[in-house]
Amino acid sequence: MPKIIQLSQHVANLIAAGEVVERPASVVKELMENAVDAGASKITVEIKDGGMTFLRVTDNGCGMAPEDAKTAFLRHATSKLRNAEDLAAIGTMGFRGEALAAIAAVSRIDLMTKTPGSISGTDLHLEAGQITEESEVGCPDGTTIIIRDLFFNTPARMKFMKADTVEGGRVTAAVQLQALAHPEVAFVYLRDGKQILSTPGTGNLEDAAYCVYGRDQAKMVKVESRWENYTVTGFVSRPTDARPSRNMQTFFVNDRPVRSKLLVAALEEAYRNQLMVGKFPACVLHLRLPANAVDVNVHPAKTEVKFLSEKAVFDCIHYGVLGALNKQTDRPQVQFKPNPAYTDTSLQTGAHAGAATANDHATTKKEPFFRTMTAEEFKNFSAAVQTAPQPKKDAAAATVHAVERQVSAPVQEKIFTPVSMPVMPDKQEIPKTIPAESTEPEQTAMEMPVEIPWRMVGELYNSYILVEQGEEAFLIDKHAAHERILFEKLKTNQEEISSQMLLSPLPVRLSAEGAAELLSNTSMLLELGFEVEEFGDNTVLLRQIPMDLDTADAADALETLAADLLRGRREQADTIRDALLHTIACKAAIKAGWTNDERELLVLVKQVMTREDLKYCPHGRPICITLSKKQLEKQFKRS
Ligand code: ADP
Ligand code: MG
Repeated sequence: MPKIIQLSQHVANLIAAGEVVERPASVVKELMENAVDAGASKITVEIKDGGMTFLRVTDNGCGMAPEDAKTAFLRHATSKLRNAEDLAAIGTMGFRGEALAAIAAVSRIDLMTKTPGSISGTDLHLEAGQITEESEVGCPDGTTIIIRDLFFNTPARMKFMKADTVEGGRVTAAVQLQALAHPEVAFVYLRDGKQILSTPGTGNLEDAAYCVYGRDQAKMVKVESRWENYTVTGFVSRPTDARPSRNMQTFFVNDRPVRSKLLVAALEEAYRNQLMVGKFPACVLHLRLPANAVDVNVHPAKTEVKFLSEKAVFDCIHYGVLGALNKQTDRPQVQFKPNPAYTDTSLQTGAHAGAATANDHATTKKEPFFRTMTAEEFKNFSAAVQTAPQPKKDAAAATVHAVERQVSAPVQEKIFTPVSMPVMPDKQEIPKTIPAESTEPEQTAMEMPVEIPWRMVGELYNSYILVEQGEEAFLIDKHAAHERILFEKLKTNQEEISSQMLLSPLPVRLSAEGAAELLSNTSMLLELGFEVEEFGDNTVLLRQIPMDLDTADAADALETLAADLLRGRREQADTIRDALLHTIACKAAIKAGWTNDERELLVLVKQVMTREDLKYCPHGRPICITLSKKQLEKQFKRS
């Protein structure tokens, strides 16, 4: 066996550097955290060439005395921790005392620092962790640290670096993250001589987020909730503004950016059944909890944490976000495009119109958190609604169907029983997420924030119901609204979805995979009201369907269910179940383009106007948008 030796300080630091100092962005993160811990109210970050050749962080914090400045670069040198007990309740960003040692080991450093009490400051130069020059200088209070030629002595690490633009981009993200973590600090960030970010340091998260996200920020929903000594504050996206990835989910725990599956799950649970498949909410959320309820010492870069009570954390985030989403009573607005021929800017509908830029801070800042729809979006949205729901039916069949519905009272009854039933539901029928009173429109009307009476004006394009209430008009997408109502009803009645026997069993031909998937889930399908039987040749025999579903839609629904099941194979049972319920609700709901009589529409409107849970269809499209009197007055140049 070779002889065992203890590694030299330098080699040990190089190894540690591998964990803490992965790339320029991680250096910047550590230095910014040190500046925050030093109590700085202003931090300036500047990089050149993606931070590989030059990286400077300046702060106006407490600075270091000459001796401290030298000690700071030793491994496990920290002023933030004295003994093991301190580890149990860490209130600072740093505490491991290894960042400066690790960074110094792989770069050339210039440090200038001065404490407010002293006349002069200290200037140090280090090469690969060794102090090579030391002098007294005149400098402002605080600390400036310059890192040059990162990884100059570790070519292996250097090889892992990406192009400067990529590394620089990561630094930008790291600065943005710190700016959101510490709205009380003014951050200035320059990249290759150009100022990229400047936050005001007001202590208000909204202000910082505005500088980072620009106009997108105005569309977010504010979250503010407290549970015992846990608080959640920040912003989440509306279900309609969901993103194609989770990149825009930012979580802070006691001001520290963290990655946590638990937090993601809690956030997304609040959006359950409001998002399209493959869409994710965006958020900037701060969770604050007692320092001893979280362990931050589980990862070298401190980006992971362990919670004392995962359930408390989950509930706090979940209900905080859910509450915020439910509380938000404003509905998306119709958006008019400004006519470029007008120069009168007062005619433009706010800063969202036209060529407002991301830097257009002053105008957008005061906007309330509503989602506006551009004319383009509105067009796409209405086009989608008009064309999407009837993929399998030709126009003639649809008309016949519509007429059938109009003349056949039982069909009408059946379609509308779920929403118009005047009887009090059983206790267990009352959905958990909806206040119990929501099933009693009379009482609810008293308790809703809006008590102004409404009037159904009529229907546009056989698709959108127009409702007037005070100074606002609403356009309700009748399909989306009915779909959501049915979905909620199905979901709360999960155990006993009533079904109807078909007069003659219906053979439905599917793909081999689809048929097999359906047949291996017969008991789940039965719970959902579908009785299927094997018929051979990739065909299943449908004997029974849910009461709410029309026979004509049954085959179509079954096909979609097979697709849901195939897609959801690896998902959790309740996620699959929700997907199946979406499908049934969608197929059973009235469609855009159908003719419905006034009584039917009124039933829908009543629900939408009184129930707080009816904001989005189960796929995340809005149910209702507003068109205010003010907006119209602007358009007609009356104001
Ligand atoms: P840690 O932050 O975990 O304590 P570091 O290696 O990052 O370890 O820093 C070592 C020490 O150097 C800190 O504890 C702090 O006392 C001092 N220090 C580092 N940066 C600054 C700064 N910008 N202003 C004042 N003191 C600093
Ligand atoms: Mg540190």
